[in-house]
Amino acid sequence: MTGSTKYIFVTGGVTSSLGKGIISASLAKLLQARGFTVTIQKLDPYINVDPGTLNPYEHGECFVTEDGAETDLDLGHYERFLDVPTSQANNVTTGRIYQNVITKERRGEYLGKTVQVIPHITDEIKRHIQALGRKGIYDFVITEVGGTVGDIESLPYIEAIRQLRWEKGRDCLVVHLTLLPFLHTTGELKTKPTQHSVKELLSLGVQPDVLVCRTEHPMQRGMKDKIALFCNVDTEAVIESRDAETIYDVPLMMQEEKLDEVVLRRLGLTSFPEADLESWKDFLRRYKQPKGEVNVALVGKYVELKDAYKSIKEALEHAGAANELKVHIRWVHSEKINEKNIARHLGGVGGILVAPGFGHRGIEGKIAAIRFARENRIPFFGICLGMQCAVIEFGRHVLGLAEANSTEMAPETPDPVIAMMEEQKTVADKGGTMRLGAYPCQLVEGTLAHRIYKRKQVSERHRHRYEFNNAYLKRYEQAGMQATGINPQGKLVEIVELKDHPFFIGTQFHPEYRSTVAKPHPLFIAFVKAAQQSHSPAPANGSGTVKAEA
Ligand code: GLN
Repeated sequence: MTGSTKYIFVTGGVTSSLGKGIISASLAKLLQARGFTVTIQKLDPYINVDPGTLNPYEHGECFVTEDGAETDLDLGHYERFLDVPTSQANNVTTGRIYQNVITKERRGEYLGKTVQVIPHITDEIKRHIQALGRKGIYDFVITEVGGTVGDIESLPYIEAIRQLRWEKGRDCLVVHLTLLPFLHTTGELKTKPTQHSVKELLSLGVQPDVLVCRTEHPMQRGMKDKIALFCNVDTEAVIESRDAETIYDVPLMMQEEKLDEVVLRRLGLTSFPEADLESWKDFLRRYKQPKGEVNVALVGKYVELKDAYKSIKEALEHAGAANELKVHIRWVHSEKINEKNIARHLGGVGGILVAPGFGHRGIEGKIAAIRFARENRIPFFGICLGMQCAVIEFGRHVLGLAEANSTEMAPETPDPVIAMMEEQKTVADKGGTMRLGAYPCQLVEGTLAHRIYKRKQVSERHRHRYEFNNAYLKRYEQAGMQATGINPQGKLVEIVELKDHPFFIGTQFHPEYRSTVAKPHPLFIAFVKAAQQSHSPAPANGSGTVKAEA
């Protein structure tokens, strides 16, 4: 596209959790399918500098980008939908905005002026919003504003949008996502909350151009006209967004409602290419019409909160579609399992995935799950802490190091088979200080990892402080646990495998962050396939030939 970058803002009204991230990603997908270049950024109105220090109970998964930014989980959706990497520039919080402004103030950059929310904070927000556009590679920058219009925290962001619209005119557009609640007693959808939330936006000086209305039921006749009339938008710019069977349906639903066309026309574009969504539809066909099914256990301590493992869940689904299999995830709480009840919890699954994590809570359950997978020859996939637990388990039960542990859990252990990385030992701050982002990993030829990736070197994303202790490597390799992926610079062990097992792999990195609809991750594809082929030992009620009985 010739001309300047267009800015699209996505705000939310009425309630949180309406799916602004999915609507933003879907609109981006539709624009990308028409041949435009698009990126999406998220503005988060909280004071943490990034979500890296947030407990998953607070904010779900922390998504890690190639450049090592710890970001909001919506960036995972953006990457999964667009198959384009995001970066630190795609996620900004109020904390970071204030940190930058205060740093500049200390440097004397404000030349003695009183530093204020307007214009200094709003200028910093505007600078961030436009930083991606200034790269000159994007036709569209979509900016999703976290929170709900009317929140005190969001006010500077809405004000920044108001100013940018004034400055940029037709190069700016606001999509407002609202809710049409359904009243069961009268059997009607109600538009009043939408009207109120648009009024709220108007009171801040922002007139939305497009309204996307989340609804459980089809909108009644005349409802779009009514909303259009009350909210000063065209009827065609009132978009119905019904609850979807899967998030991957939403781009097609938005296409049917012509969201992208309305947006393009309102931004002054009169002719544009047709959307090519063939590969997306092909993914959906394989995803929705599987030829078989497979049960996989996901063992973690946050299983009651599925958002904590968002990227892993989605990567399993992508891999399911690649194999034309429906993946049933059995969410297993690592604090509730032990050597005695393990068969009851894990019996009948084709594969066991042990999740990443921090701290000691639930790790003995993870270790029990890994022992169960190893001894019963069930396909196993350990990610980050899951890999570290596999190393601990092998140390304890195969090498006979009864107290083998990670120094994260037991600083005084006599056998620190997982230990803090050298460069981490002097680090005191918690935020943004782990080994983060993409690092190269060399694969040992002829190993499972090499067969899966079909390459000698890969690059994967990391988020950890502890690592395999190379002082133990020889003993591990002699006993059958091999280091099959090594970081070429630091010689850090990135992948471990068991020789004498149908499928047993642990990765220090997080492959889930790189799985997209267009490119499901090879490790997940291979794991799901192995899980389907494995003859799982026992049904969920526990009888069978498993070694650990309920
Ligand atoms: N807690 C472990 C570490 O810091 C693993 C981290 C993770 O699973 N992301 O090394």
